[in-house]
Amino acid sequence: MAKTIIISNRLPVQLQISNGTISAIPSVGGLATGMKSVHSGGDSLWIGWSGLTDEEIPKELAPKIDEALAEHGSSKVNLSSAEVDGFYFGFSNRTIWPLFHYFLEYSEFELDSWNIYKAVNQKFADAILESADDDDTIWVHDYQLMLVPQMVREKRPNISIGFFLHIPFPSFEIFRTLPWREDLLQGLLGADLIGFHTYDYERHFLSSVRRLLGLEVSFNDIYLDNRIIKVDSFPMGIDYKKFSNAAKEHQKNTTAQQSDLQQRLNDHKRSTPDAKLILSIDRLDYSKGIAKRLNAFEYFLNKYPQYKEKVRLIILAVPSRSNVPQYQLLKKEIDELVGRINGDFSTVSWTPIWYFYRSVPFENLIDLYTSSDIAWLTPLRDGMNLVAKEYIATRTDKTGVLILSEMAGSANEMNESLLINPNNFEQIADSLNQAINMPIEEQQERNTHLQKRLARYNVEQWANDFMSSLQAQKDRDAANVSKRLTEHRLNTVLEDFSKAKKRLLFLDYDGTLAGFHVDPQKAGPDKELYGLLDALNSMENTDLYLVSGRDKDTFTKWFLHKKYNMIVEHGVWISQDGEDFRMLENVKNDWMEKIRPVLESFVDRTPGSFIEEKNYSLAWHYRKTDPDFGNLRANELNTVLTSLIANDDLSVLNGNKVMEIKSSNVNKGRATVRVMGEDDYDFVFAIGDDWTDEFMFQELPESTVTVKVGRQKTQARFYVNGIKPVRDLLKRFTD
Ligand code: UDP
Repeated sequence: MAKTIIISNRLPVQLQISNGTISAIPSVGGLATGMKSVHSGGDSLWIGWSGLTDEEIPKELAPKIDEALAEHGSSKVNLSSAEVDGFYFGFSNRTIWPLFHYFLEYSEFELDSWNIYKAVNQKFADAILESADDDDTIWVHDYQLMLVPQMVREKRPNISIGFFLHIPFPSFEIFRTLPWREDLLQGLLGADLIGFHTYDYERHFLSSVRRLLGLEVSFNDIYLDNRIIKVDSFPMGIDYKKFSNAAKEHQKNTTAQQSDLQQRLNDHKRSTPDAKLILSIDRLDYSKGIAKRLNAFEYFLNKYPQYKEKVRLIILAVPSRSNVPQYQLLKKEIDELVGRINGDFSTVSWTPIWYFYRSVPFENLIDLYTSSDIAWLTPLRDGMNLVAKEYIATRTDKTGVLILSEMAGSANEMNESLLINPNNFEQIADSLNQAINMPIEEQQERNTHLQKRLARYNVEQWANDFMSSLQAQKDRDAANVSKRLTEHRLNTVLEDFSKAKKRLLFLDYDGTLAGFHVDPQKAGPDKELYGLLDALNSMENTDLYLVSGRDKDTFTKWFLHKKYNMIVEHGVWISQDGEDFRMLENVKNDWMEKIRPVLESFVDRTPGSFIEEKNYSLAWHYRKTDPDFGNLRANELNTVLTSLIANDDLSVLNGNKVMEIKSSNVNKGRATVRVMGEDDYDFVFAIGDDWTDEFMFQELPESTVTVKVGRQKTQARFYVNGIKPVRDLLKRFTD
C-alpha cells in the first residue's frame, strides 16, 4: 500500500531517558496536531531527528529508541553533535533564519556550515530513500531541509514530493545575497508542490526562480525540463477546537481548581478592576521585535500618562536557540530594558511590566490568553504567528482585542484585528489607546469574523488541503504523461515512418532544433545540427521543411547552400530545393510605418529589449529584460497594439519572449497546409515549441504526428522535453 512519509527536522515525539529506560512521548505542537490526519495508521512514517545527538544516546539504549519511535510511526535520523552544530545552529539558524527574516546583518555565510547542511540534508534524503517506494507521497517540512526534495528526486524521478516552508520567503533583493542561492532553489524544485503561508512569500519565491534560474513561470506553475512544479499558498491554521474547548473548560473551574497563576491574576484584577492586562507571548527571537515593543510601551506610557497604574504588560519570552550568540545578546538587551522601564515607571502599588523568561504549560497559556484584555504581538517579521490565532480562539465570549504586526503572515487573514507597523511607535501607542477604549460590541463584532475563519481553516484543514493539492498535481502529471512520446509510442511512429511512401517533415527552428540565445543572431546552427539535417534531407521520399518565424536573410545565410526547404517569416516566404525565396502569401508591409514608432517607444522605456525588423513583420524581443518588467511591458504593448491595429488586417503573435506583429492571413498552419497539398504525402510530421507552432498543430490534418517541445498547454498529440530529445528523435528517423 502506498505510504505517506513526512520529514521534518524534529520528530513529533520527545525522547526521555530515565533510570536506563527510554520512553517516547508525543509532542502536542501545532504541526504534530495538524498532521494527525496525514500521519495515522500503519501507512505513514515520520522521519526526523530525535533531539538527542549520537553522543547523548547510551549505546545499550540505541535499539530500544528505534522500537520506541516505531510505536509512534517514527524513525530517526542520527546526528552527531558536530552535525547539529553546523546544520541546525549553524546554517539553518545563523544563515537561513536571519536572512529569510530580513536580518541581513545577522546572516553568516560560512562555507563549512553550508557543507554540513548539505551533508545532513543528504542524510535525511537517504533515510527517505531507504523507506520509500515509487508510489509513496513525501512531505518535506521547512527551512532546515530545503535540499531534500531534489536529493530524493534524483534517485526517484517519479515519486510525489511536497515541500512546505514555515518561515517567510524573502524578496529577491534579499535572497540574492546568499552565496548558495541557486543550490537552495534547485533543491526545492525537486518537489512537485511547494507551499508557503502567504501569497507574498510565494511571489517572492517565483521571482527568485525566474531571475536566478531563468525558468519559465506561468501563473503559479514553474516549467523545469520535463516537469511542472506548482507553487501555492496554504496559510497554516491552529487546532481551533483544542484552544476553544480548553477555554470553555477553564471557565468552569472553581477557585480551588484554578492554577496558581490564575489565582494571582485574579487577585490583581480584583485589586484594580479597571486596569487592563496586555499580553505578549513569543519565543525570544530577534524577529519577534520584543525590544522594540518594550520601547514602544515606554513611548505609549509617555504619550498617554493617564494609563500609568491602569495597564500591565505581561511579556512571556520563551527561551530559544540560546547557544546562538545573537540570542544571548538579545536576552541581555531585553533583561536590561525591562529593568530600566520598570525602574523608571514603577510605583509602590504598580509594576508596568511582568516579564517571564520561560515556557509555560498549556494550562497556564490558557490562563494568560483568557485573562488578558489585549494581545499585543509586534514581530518585525514572522512566517505566520500562531499565538495571534490561539488568543482569538480562547475568547469564548468574543471579547478581547488583538493588536498585530502587519509583518506577520497571519495579518493577511486577520484583517479585523488592529494591524500595526512595528516600527511606528505613534501608531502603536494610538492602537493601544484604541484597544483599551474599544466598546465590547465592537470587540465582539471583530472577533466573530476572526473566530469563524479560524474555526473553518484549522490546522487539519491546512494539512488536508496541502495533501489534496499534491494529489491533484500527481493526477495532472499522470494526465500529461499520456502525451509523452515514450519509447513505445515512438516505435509506432517510426514504423509508420518507414512504411510510408512519401513523407513530409516540418521542423520549427528556435527552441526546437536550437536553443535560445539573448542575441538571436548567435543562435545559429552547429555542426551536429547540420549533420542531422543533411541526413534527413538526403533521405529518399522525404521532404524536409524548416518552418520558422525568422527573416529570410538569416535563413538564406544559414541554410540556402544546404538546399533545405524553408518557410520563413511565419509563412510569407518559401524556398525549395535551394532556389531563392519567393512569396508564398501576398502580404503588405505599409502598416510598419505606423507601428514602428510605437515599438521604438517601448524599446526606449524597457532596457534590454529590441526590435527585429523582417520584410513583412516587426518583432519586439524582450528576453534580455528583467523578467517581471518584460512581462508587464509585453502586456502593456499588447493593449496598445490591439487598439492600434483594430482596423488593419494584422495580428499580434505572442511567442517565447517575443511579440510579433504581422499580417493576419500569415501563419505557420496556413503555410504548412499549402505545402502539404503539393504532393500525396502519407506521413506528415510537425514539431515546434511555442505559440506560433500551435497553428501547425491545429491546422494540419488529424493524422499528422504533431510534437510539442516542453510541457506547456498544446494541441499537439505528443510532447518531448527539450532540444536534445528532439535531435535524438530526428536521428531515429535516419537510422
Ligand atoms: N507556546 C508554548 N509554550 C509557551 C508559550 C508558547 O508552547 O510557553 C506555543 C504557542 O502556543 C504557539 C507557539 O508556541 O503555538 C508559538 O508559535 P508562533 O507561530 O507564534 O511562533 P514561532 O515560535 O513558531 O516562531
